[in-house]
Amino acid sequence: MEKRRLYMDYAATTPVKPEVLEAMMPYYTTYFGNASSFHQFGREAKEGLDKGRAQVASLINADPREVYFTNGGSESDNWALEGTAFARRNKGNHIITSKIEHHAILHTCEYLEKVHGFEVTYLDVDADGKVDLEQLKRVISDNTILVSVMFANNEIGTIQPIKEITEIAHAHGALMHTDGVQACGNIPVDVKELGVDLMSMSGHKIYGPKGIGALYIKKGVKIHNFMHGGAQERKKRAGTENVPAIVGYGKAAEMAKNNMENHVRELTRLRDKLMYGLQERIPHTRINGHKTDRLPGTANVSFQFIEGEGILLLLDQAGIAGSSGSACTSGSLDPSHVLMALGLPHELAHGSLRLVVGDFTTEEDIDYVLETLPPIIARLRELSPLYQTYIKEHPEENK
Ligand SMILES: *Cc1c(COP(=O)(O)O)cnc(C)c1O
Repeated sequence: MEKRRLYMDYAATTPVKPEVLEAMMPYYTTYFGNASSFHQFGREAKEGLDKGRAQVASLINADPREVYFTNGGSESDNWALEGTAFARRNKGNHIITSKIEHHAILHTCEYLEKVHGFEVTYLDVDADGKVDLEQLKRVISDNTILVSVMFANNEIGTIQPIKEITEIAHAHGALMHTDGVQACGNIPVDVKELGVDLMSMSGHKIYGPKGIGALYIKKGVKIHNFMHGGAQERKKRAGTENVPAIVGYGKAAEMAKNNMENHVRELTRLRDKLMYGLQERIPHTRINGHKTDRLPGTANVSFQFIEGEGILLLLDQAGIAGSSGSACTSGSLDPSHVLMALGLPHELAHGSLRLVVGDFTTEEDIDYVLETLPPIIARLRELSPLYQTYIKEHPEENK
């Protein structure tokens, strides 16, 4: 029998959809020109570039002139923070973010603190992962130049009240940035309705290619350049445009927009079946993240008494690809900073598993995980001294 290959890590990356690849291919060969060139080869590439920009803009209801292509979500995050911090230095030196941001935000904030003397406040979150708006109102001041809170969390899927946060930021003259990498293409996002000033996006989380992303910069917002050189991207981000990737990203954005309602409904259904199915079948299981304000595909559960790494290993042997914490931090033995910020005890944070379903996940995939995982957890608990102690104290549970 062929070994099963079951992908449940759609928050780490997604496969490129066939339609996306098909749209990209001619831009590697026939339309290979430099989009800045005057001749017909340049013009053909420029057409692909313009179309991609319009499609990405349309996904978030922005004007195409407000969309600046970057090499991905991390670059967009770095640029948004550094670019606005340096541009607004004369207004103040205080930045507010949250404790559960992606490391592209957290490590950039650390850099701004340590190397450039900015002051950063890291907002707490509640047990569901929602930021504390009262704390935000307490710590924000006229010295605050930027608030950056992620739209939806990559580990637990919790969605933040971005519109309310933006209103609070603006009331104090601060700019509002949101890391929208997980949200844009997964749930409806409308920058005009939200009022945000800057938003980061990425192609490879929404069935586009890797190495392409965008920063939405609202018309009129002043930001320093991050990449210096040629006049590309309205003189704001130098470097010959990655036209094939932009064309693919545009196609992926268009497909996400057209399929949004169905995507949200179907993924939510599969995710709930998985998440609540596991909770039903496995005792001492905690569902992490907000129950309803969460990304449609993201399930995150903690199994008491055992380690996430052991679960991943046995799942991988069964052909199921999941993750514990985010892809960027696994490899380190520290529990996820996101789960710790929820206030989970070390033990529960260690025994966490993230399974993220996507557009290629089937009903059979869910059934297979629901069949495969409970015996794996039981086996690991058999080996766990913590569990053995617990069972001695609760003999009625040892059936
Ligand atoms: C994946 C991710 C990023 C990084 O995007 P890349 O395109 O991989 O650089 C940033 N923020 C969040 C929330 C993400 O999920």
